[in-house]
Amino acid sequence: VAGRIRQEDVDAVRERADLVKVISGHLQLRKSGADRLVGLCPFHPEKTPSFGVSPSKQAYYCFGCGEGGNVFTFLRKVENLSFAEAVEKLASETGITLRYEGTSPSERRAHGRRQAVHKAIADAARLYQRTLAEAKEAHEAREYVAQRGISPASVERFDIGYAPTYPDFLLRRLSRAYSAELLVEAGLVAKDAEGNLRDRFRGRVMFPIHDLSGNAVGFGGRLLAGPRAPTNAPKYLNSPESAVYHKGKPPL
Ligand SMILES: [Zn+2]
Repeated sequence: VAGRIRQEDVDAVRERADLVKVISGHLQLRKSGADRLVGLCPFHPEKTPSFGVSPSKQAYYCFGCGEGGNVFTFLRKVENLSFAEAVEKLASETGITLRYEGTSPSERRAHGRRQAVHKAIADAARLYQRTLAEAKEAHEAREYVAQRGISPASVERFDIGYAPTYPDFLLRRLSRAYSAELLVEAGLVAKDAEGNLRDRFRGRVMFPIHDLSGNAVGFGGRLLAGPRAPTNAPKYLNSPESAVYHKGKPPL
């Protein structure tokens, strides 16, 4: 079995692939604005087009059924392909030779390390979700989410959670399974001014960020005002760059 396709090659395919051309192979698009084409959605039955494509953003969205994404998600969904199959198909169409990870011992080690980082972030996301759903201290967070008009279905779909205000919520729960070094690398934990390890995200509503393969790569955290909120903290805080999270290359 071939290893995971190198991220830089995935990015190259995404940049070279033409979403409009790919979609046009499956349905008829017509222009409907400077940066918009529309057509009949291939994912739900309809008689008037609610499926829109933005050439500049290389993204599509259907107002009828909520399907949306980029060239990879479209191809996966419409042709029932795995992520790797979609990338491979587009790579051959665009003339890009893919390289796979895990071919040398050091690449395999790096791959294993990245997998562990993904897993730690996914575990953190689950802990945050459970806290938002169940914890007494997440009462204000639940109110905030409801006030923002985020439905329970969206909370579930986007894996929204809550990071409590105390400094070792994740540390205590995750340090059994992961080294402190790995938790720092994952951007979940950081050293404070005194050199003590602390949870990076505290008193925040948490929005997980995923890469194109669906792996958890980081978080965006919105600070909640309140008596126990950390002082001098920025309103929005994102995960730092890491081996799995590259801010210059947004996941969509
Ligand atoms: Zn649709």
